[in-house]
Amino acid sequence: MAKRLPAAVRDVPGAGGVRESNAAAVLGAIRTDGPLSRAAIARRTGLSMPTVSRQVSALAELELLREVSGLPPTREVGRPTVPVDLNDDVIAACGVHIGITTTTYGLTNLRGGLLGSERIATPSGDPEDVLAKIADEVGAFLQGWPERTIIGVGLAIGGQVDAEHGLLHHGPLGWNGVPARAVLERATGLPVHLDGHVPAMASAELLFGSAGRAQSSLYFYAREMVGVAIAVDGVLHRGPGQSGSIAHLPVGGAVPCSCGRTGCLEATVAERAVVEQAVHAGVIAEPDFRLLLAAAESGDPEADRILAERARALGRAVALVRDVVNPDLVVLGGQAVTDAPAYLGELLNAFADASALPGADLVEVTKFGPDVQAMAACTGLLTELYAHPLSILGA
Ligand SMILES: [Zn+2]
Repeated sequence: MAKRLPAAVRDVPGAGGVRESNAAAVLGAIRTDGPLSRAAIARRTGLSMPTVSRQVSALAELELLREVSGLPPTREVGRPTVPVDLNDDVIAACGVHIGITTTTYGLTNLRGGLLGSERIATPSGDPEDVLAKIADEVGAFLQGWPERTIIGVGLAIGGQVDAEHGLLHHGPLGWNGVPARAVLERATGLPVHLDGHVPAMASAELLFGSAGRAQSSLYFYAREMVGVAIAVDGVLHRGPGQSGSIAHLPVGGAVPCSCGRTGCLEATVAERAVVEQAVHAGVIAEPDFRLLLAAAESGDPEADRILAERARALGRAVALVRDVVNPDLVVLGGQAVTDAPAYLGELLNAFADASALPGADLVEVTKFGPDVQAMAACTGLLTELYAHPLSILGA
């Protein structure tokens, strides 16, 4: 059984003071630029050599760092020093993404490398029973890594997340005020970190994708739900209370929405909506997105038209948000983009046509591909770990 840690993740913000921020600075420098000598860390962080040495020792004790013996020692101020790097063999973060149809869970190492992931159909029924079933599956999955120290479980989900009280509200799942954190902590014995799935995906891009190097970035997600997140200077914007929504962004077209209007983004591009349209048009017999993709690949013109129109609606929506936010980088994620790579050109052309701003080349696709949900869920915890390494590991 994996080692269990008692740290309560939710108690962390604000904890630790100077020692914690120094540890985070050292760990951050090594994460982005390691392996590094202690002197190089001091230069990058502006900390004194004794402080760096103390923090390196503390972080090595927590098995976050290790000396790299395979590299030639660097000569700093007269004596050779052994560089230090992340220790990616010990600490791991588990993540669970509960989607409308699919639940994904996975485990990543410190570098955000996915060690493994599994998918199940999201169970139906009473929310607490659903969470208990998912916790059982996750517990069995984690048995596969007895040598790892698992720092907790990140839960990423659409809808509204009340991280302060550990509650979830998810309209499409019919969940209202579900005490997800308490239920999952009880069932897994691990600390649980809740986050909205789109902010969690944007955090993954900041930590391990190219958004971390952009001054400002816009993350745009689409599958069954749609959402955006904005980061400036490496910090994700989190508004008061409820997160913003682009579900009803008008993208044109005749698809009716539950809000009473037509042409709302989510109602137009959601996988279930597109699949339903294809069944209705007689393109596929079963409501399965893979069948629709296969039909398009084998040359069915109606399947192709449906997928191309979806891509164009997405492109118009990305342009609308991009023009408002004017970011340096736009990252597209979610299976609406990554499962249909043949339609990316269509999406980008619609984006370029609809955007009133110059520079259509600032759009890129997430490198996490279909693992985006698992990565996002795990990364919520890693973001906490990199910000508060000592508190998270109970040091
Ligand atoms: Zn609407």
